[in-house]
Amino acid sequence: MSTPTRITHLIDGQPWSGTAERTSPVFNPATGEQSGVLDLASASLVDEVVKSAASAWEEWADASLAKRSGVLFAFRELLNDRKQDIAALITAEHGKVLSDALGEVTRGLEVAEFACGIPHLMRGGFSENASTNVDVYSIRQPLGVVAVISPFNFPAMVPMWFIPIAIACGNAVILKPSEKDPSAAIAVAALWKEAGLPDGVMQVVNGDKEAVDALLTHPDVKSVSFVGSTPIAKYVYETGTAHGKRVQALGGAKNHMLVLPDADLDLAADAAVNAGFGSAGERCMAISALVAVEPIADELISKIKDRMGKLVTGDGTRGCDMGPLVTSQHRDKVTSYLDAGVSEGATLVVDGRQDSYESDGEGYFLAPTLFDHVKPGMSLYDDEIFGPVLSVVRVGSYDEGLTLINSNPYGNGTAIFTNDGGAARTFQRKVEVGMVGVNVPIPVPVSYYSFGGWKNSLFGDTHAHGMEGVHFFTRGKVVTSRWLDPSHGGLNLGFPQND
Ligand code: NAD
Repeated sequence: MSTPTRITHLIDGQPWSGTAERTSPVFNPATGEQSGVLDLASASLVDEVVKSAASAWEEWADASLAKRSGVLFAFRELLNDRKQDIAALITAEHGKVLSDALGEVTRGLEVAEFACGIPHLMRGGFSENASTNVDVYSIRQPLGVVAVISPFNFPAMVPMWFIPIAIACGNAVILKPSEKDPSAAIAVAALWKEAGLPDGVMQVVNGDKEAVDALLTHPDVKSVSFVGSTPIAKYVYETGTAHGKRVQALGGAKNHMLVLPDADLDLAADAAVNAGFGSAGERCMAISALVAVEPIADELISKIKDRMGKLVTGDGTRGCDMGPLVTSQHRDKVTSYLDAGVSEGATLVVDGRQDSYESDGEGYFLAPTLFDHVKPGMSLYDDEIFGPVLSVVRVGSYDEGLTLINSNPYGNGTAIFTNDGGAARTFQRKVEVGMVGVNVPIPVPVSYYSFGGWKNSLFGDTHAHGMEGVHFFTRGKVVTSRWLDPSHGGLNLGFPQND
């Protein structure tokens, strides 16, 4: 067994040279070996980093749009050149297969490409002669030091939902990645210096609750962009807003795929397997509840079962379809739902515990698992499991399916599979979910639209990236201006009116 590598903060453009009071182990989930030891930031270190970010911000806020977009273009090129290396880091610490890791980096890259257009995105409006010889115009200005706190499941992409836009808008960023798989985010953050970003504008602090709380309560942190589980998202939203910050906190999910009887069942089965088991179900947009409108459930389940039999689970570097879960604790938690499902009356159709794995060592594997006859009230249905467990819920009609989806407390993503355009359009209008797919099982919006759920899947008003991202990371200002001449003279204490 090799010695675990030290993983530390990135402060003022350099790896931190101090000694951490607390550390946390990082594992390779495909082998179970400890690969790293991560320095955890204390509240006082976070305070130092915020101060240095605040001083770096003053210069960056004054950088021209041309300078900022130049850095964004350079960052985009560097990330594109290094995407294979970043993907390898993701697979080594998260466990997802390499092709999936590469897909994640590419989706993050798209946000950097969107942010390259910042001169256009930050353009204000101008109204000449709003009143006689009076012009009115709007401008958007950066917030200052902004914090990004990310989850383990997209260690590179989720930070990039926010960071390129925040930097392009003229802010200084402090990223707190997940302590389970921090290396990819740190490697991406290091590219900003190479791209020409001044030191201190992009900093990384690693840590747990202590570091998060220090960011949430620090007076010089102006906004918090959080992604993670619903209870923590709610806590982050409440604490951050109570401390005067602008907060967008994206939470957990329970995504339903509604299959109508007229759908192409082969394509629906492919989609359910891809969206249910890709990345071992550790995606906030994974399909976890397949809602089959009768009489198609038996046929659909049989097609899904056939496809599941062809999937290979194992070490993500070997060309398998699905990798391990992120930690042994998480694998055990997901596995506990299998026993609970059986005891609560669901039918275990495919048991992932009985499969074998392509791996050397003691990885945290659970192969794809399928349940039938799942109902609300069962923990399989009610909880976000975040693993390779697909539950089929049988319903008698489209209306019953829609009511089921709208009764769920989460509202991140959903999909309808049908060849009936009218049914799809009604679904899109009536479903209470933030991101909707029509024959698309994982409807993650492209970077120039915004990503975000409804209900318990997002706390705050603003979704990630797209124009909502630009608005989140800037403040609006409206200027009313005139150039005085003698015709403006005289006393008048009335409220100004336009003439
Ligand atoms: P998590 O909530 O455990 O951790 C997220 C972040 O919060 C991490 O940086 C972690 O260090 C920090 N954190 C953990 N406990 C904390 C505490 N007590 N106080 C303050 N900070 C704390 O989430 P995770 O397990 O890393 O990620 C999986 C979850 O994220 C799932 O629920 C998934 O649905 C959700 N997710 C949501 C989206 C979305 O867009 N809605 C996207 C990705 C992941």
